[in-house]
Amino acid sequence: MERLTYDKMVAAMLTDDADYDGKFFVCVKTTGIYCVPSCKAKTPMLKNVVFLPSKKEAVAAGFRGCKRCRSEFFPDVHPDWWEKALDLMKSEITRKITEDELAGIASVDISTIRRYFKIYMETTPIAFHRKLRLEHARSLIEKGKDYLTTAYECGFESASGFRDAFIKQYGYTPGKSNGNGKNRL
Ligand SMILES: [Zn+2]
Repeated sequence: MERLTYDKMVAAMLTDDADYDGKFFVCVKTTGIYCVPSCKAKTPMLKNVVFLPSKKEAVAAGFRGCKRCRSEFFPDVHPDWWEKALDLMKSEITRKITEDELAGIASVDISTIRRYFKIYMETTPIAFHRKLRLEHARSLIEKGKDYLTTAYECGFESASGFRDAFIKQYGYTPGKSNGNGKNRL
């Protein structure tokens, strides 16, 4: 994957390089506007520019979309590793994965991954993966599988840990969701 550096972002902005559109946003402190790198508006002075990786962050920092490049309608473009990380999470729903594993498959450091998840998923990578496993667990229980087997098959190390996570996610105990109306925990 190509790493975005400050110099590359500056170059992309100065050359109006559309290949970088969506990969970061050019926020201009003096105007309060954020642009895609290829925006044809007058190039701002570097000292007035801050680069942010997503529209969400630009908006959170108080910037507004640009009328010229219509930056607010530009889709976010995720880096190459993003899909790899999501694929790993979606394919490994029967066990817990580690942050090291995630960083390994994505070939980026875990702090970058954590940051992305915070921005785009509003959670941590591990919590996001746990949610996927819980969804899998719920579907198994709805098919009639008992919760204890389900807990282990979805990578939860203990029944109580599974129960707690399930209640937190869905607001009811896993025993109740199998249709027999009984809370067996
Ligand atoms: Zn613009």
